[in-house]
Amino acid sequence: MSINFSEDSENAQITSAAVLPEDRSEGSLRPKTLSEYIGQEKAKENLSIFIGAAKLRNEPLDHVLLHGPPGLGKTTLAAVIANEMNVNMRITSGPAIEKPGDLVALLTNLSEGDILFVDEIHRLNRAYEEILYPAMEDFAIDIILGKGPSANSIHLDLPHFTLIAATTRSGQLTAPLRDRFGVTLRLELYTPQELQRIVERSASILNVRIDPKGSFEIASRSRGTPRIANRLLRRVRDYAQVLADGVITREVADAALRSLEVDQCGLDGIDRRMMRSIIEFYGGGPVGLETLAATINEDPVTLEDVYEPYLLQNGFLTRTPRGRCVTRKAYEHLGLAFNRTEQLEF
Ligand code: ADP
Repeated sequence: MSINFSEDSENAQITSAAVLPEDRSEGSLRPKTLSEYIGQEKAKENLSIFIGAAKLRNEPLDHVLLHGPPGLGKTTLAAVIANEMNVNMRITSGPAIEKPGDLVALLTNLSEGDILFVDEIHRLNRAYEEILYPAMEDFAIDIILGKGPSANSIHLDLPHFTLIAATTRSGQLTAPLRDRFGVTLRLELYTPQELQRIVERSASILNVRIDPKGSFEIASRSRGTPRIANRLLRRVRDYAQVLADGVITREVADAALRSLEVDQCGLDGIDRRMMRSIIEFYGGGPVGLETLAATINEDPVTLEDVYEPYLLQNGFLTRTPRGRCVTRKAYEHLGLAFNRTEQLEF
């Protein structure tokens, strides 16, 4: 299959898993209970046992670490847990905690049983992690007031709370922090069938008429990511309202997604540019991530967190000790002749 989409379009961001301004309304689409939360069966099964047990014992849930690529439902799952436990949730993120006092204030303002959700915990300043250790383990913190010989230490007891942390890069967490989570759940990319259920659920909330083939078309072009599926649904809805009779069929979805330059495999301009650069400049690879990022003028973290997981999972890219390589499937997808044998050595 050869597709002639441009690789430098303003639509390149449409399949980004990061939050875009147009996703502001995504709150209304968030499932509230475990039974509404589609997919991630293994994580849900474990969670429902832990939640049930904590409720029986009338205790807060153990601290939970959620990891996986952006847009897969980590924040949503944290809110579902709070809802199922019937407790309040306070939300912050690693980079938002700018000084130790921010973290101390957050912790001391919690009530018994509350959930503290820290998004992007890998970006929390390492020096402040030490405040979290006793807070998570003993529900207490020691604050040092003043400096030098006159410094005083105050011991503060905290309410029993649950820390739910989310990260796209669990490998960047220090071992002492990682070890303090009783529950670690990895969220996986969704199957097209699961995404189809998410698209249909969102369509009914948004009052959009869609037929099963239309929802499947959107689902299979959403890179395994609910945030992207919901975004594509809203874009296709606009297209359907203006250019079709408002109903999203397979044909309408396909035409709309083509005009947004999202190809049949859900790849966008950046994916294609990434694969084409590896082929054109590095003979198909291997090439290091930093070099590749500089070549296509993108942020290496974005490439690794947002683009790579889907390309790896779908067999367009392989990761070798010497760098990234494209596969035969990538050549074929771009309509280029595959004339390499040496990369098959890996
Ligand atoms: P993350 O925190 O992992 O970046 P979010 O929790 O913000 O992702 O999810 C992005 C959007 O995707 C949410 O607004 C929600 O509507 C939708 N979503 C995520 N997971 C699910 C799910 N399992 N079922 C239905 N919708 C989901």
